[in-house]
Amino acid sequence: MAANFFNRHFCHVSGIRGLTNYCLSCCANTLLQTFSATWELVDLLKRWDSAHVTPNGRNVPLEMKKVLVAMQSEQPVSHQDFLHCLDRNGVQLHTQHDADEIFFFILNLIQTQMDDKILVEKIQSLYKVSVQTHVQCLECASVQTKASYLLSLPLHIKEDDTSLKDCLTSFFEDHELRGLNCCFCLQCEAKTPSKQGVRLLTLPPILCVQLKRYRNNGGYTQKLGYRVTFPETFDFLSIADQAFAKDMAQRDCRYSLYAVVVHSGSAGCGHYTTFVRHRESRSWYHADDSQTRQVTWNEVQSSYGGGHRHTAYMLMYRRE
Ligand SMILES: [Zn+2]
Repeated sequence: MAANFFNRHFCHVSGIRGLTNYCLSCCANTLLQTFSATWELVDLLKRWDSAHVTPNGRNVPLEMKKVLVAMQSEQPVSHQDFLHCLDRNGVQLHTQHDADEIFFFILNLIQTQMDDKILVEKIQSLYKVSVQTHVQCLECASVQTKASYLLSLPLHIKEDDTSLKDCLTSFFEDHELRGLNCCFCLQCEAKTPSKQGVRLLTLPPILCVQLKRYRNNGGYTQKLGYRVTFPETFDFLSIADQAFAKDMAQRDCRYSLYAVVVHSGSAGCGHYTTFVRHRESRSWYHADDSQTRQVTWNEVQSSYGGGHRHTAYMLMYRRE
């Protein structure tokens, strides 16, 4: 009785609720932990008047809203309906999935299955990184630019013992396109070698960073266990000032880390867990399916990779 009371009390205080592993659901569990820690998203879902949505078990944002609201309360959390709903939308149960793919799949389903388009736009804006891509012809020097957006920054890891700053620097470096990769230049009216790059126009309230740890190696997927360090807080201006478009006026670029999706094991066979930071106490917790415990920042750093078995895969930063 006392233990039961303690657990309920603890859950309420910590706000970190474990989720049972149901039919190999560690990937979905880890994303639910991440979404639950993104309280801006939970608040927007709560504002959605979903009473008229047909409860046919196919609407992912509806089922996700139910789980996320339960995770923030003292009610028991059941996420089986959510997992079956994902299954009906093509994310099969009993199968290992890629967290980064399912993350985008869920964001996409929010866009297509939620009928309140104003809220949909607000949810997109939480993650939206506006960028300008430019292609400069190396023969006539003319420049073509295009504005677009990303919902995360996909960072390639080129070598061992690197840092988030190195990966960001490399993401915003210009690269040359030659040979088969030549682009059509309107001035030259021909395919010419060019220099291509990406610059930031605006940074979002929630910055999702994907560390691209999977590499296709002659038809089979290899996981890169390289060590990549990342800070608990950082100022984007100080770590990637070359990343900004000339007319970008944004100066509030300080971010703090609040969730880390961790992958253990190999590309073909592994397990996902999450480190999440509590909203009020700002303490770190580790959620391994139904098991949750408080940890130190040192333990979060054990997911840098290198000698460690488990490696950070997605980093969620919040603008301060
Ligand atoms: Zn040209």
